[in-house]
Amino acid sequence: MVRKIIVMVSLWGSLSFGATAHSQIWESGYTFFAFFQKYNIPTSVYYNLPPKDRELTSEVYAGVTYYTLLDDNEELLQALIPIGDGMQIHIFKRDGEFRLDFTPMIYFEQEQMVSLSIQKSPYQDLLEMTHDNGLVSEFLNAYKNSVNFRSILKDDRLAVIYERKYRLGKPLKNANIKAAVVEINKKPHYIFRFNNGRYYNKEGKEIQGFLLQTPVAGARISSRFSLGRKHPILGTVRPHYAVDYAAPKGTPIVAAADGVVIFAGKRGGYGNLIEIRHENNLKTLYAHMNSFAAGMKSGKKVKRGQLIGRVGSTGLSTGPHLHFGLYRNNVPINPLSSVKAVSKELQGKEKEKFIAVSEHFIPLLQEALEDGNNSIIANEGFNLDSNKEAEDSEDSIRETTELESTQQNIPIDSQGK
Ligand SMILES: [Zn+2]
Repeated sequence: MVRKIIVMVSLWGSLSFGATAHSQIWESGYTFFAFFQKYNIPTSVYYNLPPKDRELTSEVYAGVTYYTLLDDNEELLQALIPIGDGMQIHIFKRDGEFRLDFTPMIYFEQEQMVSLSIQKSPYQDLLEMTHDNGLVSEFLNAYKNSVNFRSILKDDRLAVIYERKYRLGKPLKNANIKAAVVEINKKPHYIFRFNNGRYYNKEGKEIQGFLLQTPVAGARISSRFSLGRKHPILGTVRPHYAVDYAAPKGTPIVAAADGVVIFAGKRGGYGNLIEIRHENNLKTLYAHMNSFAAGMKSGKKVKRGQLIGRVGSTGLSTGPHLHFGLYRNNVPINPLSSVKAVSKELQGKEKEKFIAVSEHFIPLLQEALEDGNNSIIANEGFNLDSNKEAEDSEDSIRETTELESTQQNIPIDSQGK
């Protein structure tokens, strides 16, 4: 991993002489303006952005790793700051002036499988094997409503197939569980992820999901969720990490599910903003609010359907509406697929698709139960070691491509000296 970072540094370095790249963590409470101030970027760079772009810059979240490229005098040449799922803010100099744009990230995904014989508990054994809290909590969460882990016998087995995104050799976010099996008293219990992060058993019955209440009753949807990606002709298409509900100023906004308020206040282009944390690593976000209901502050417990405030057009908003976002582990997901009533049991075409998914994973999981080893392996032959070299070289090529494309924006006159 260290080596990969060096690849980046040396590449950037060779392209712009004395420049050095740094990776840093975006601290909790750090603001976009503090970042601008630190690197002497004029605030006009921010204020000249179209409103939708200014809104998007509010998506930078604490804990994310971002990259800066500085010249010999510690002046900023470029910065790449991730937002949401696979997008990043790109700040660079052109004609001696700072610019801000959005660009998709280059990452690679790897499917992996961990399998083991349970000695202490699924929780402890899985954590010792993977050292990955996120994966373990997701595993427990997925099985929460379906099986009782207390009936597990020593030497019962479990296997989890999950997918992880890597960027510049570092995991980009928490792993996504795709399928898993756990033996309870020697009997296998399967789960499969399907439909936007919901979990189903082998028969296609939902065992763990979440349903949100529409936060503004009877409102019209004025803008839908989109991830935004590189468009072959139009260039980068902006993402919209939320659903916008148009409604008159003052219309009541209610909490979409039970939870705890983790933010209530102003934030950049989002204006008056409330964020609520829910179980299952979920978070909802309510932006552009006109006012908050009494008592809304960090730490306040709220019930599904409880009034939290009223529709407005604070921050960057062209008219009164609620910008309603849903996040799982800080990654935006489409709220509409959780707001509409989803049947607990899959049917018809959906069931057919589900069966194809489950039939793909069952033989792999079955094999993992039978082989008796404790291991973590990657897909394509499910063997990490034999693929290592190939992955590394592929990764380097992708990095090179990304850095070359960003490098074009370094003007000649900022190089050297
Ligand atoms: Zn919006």
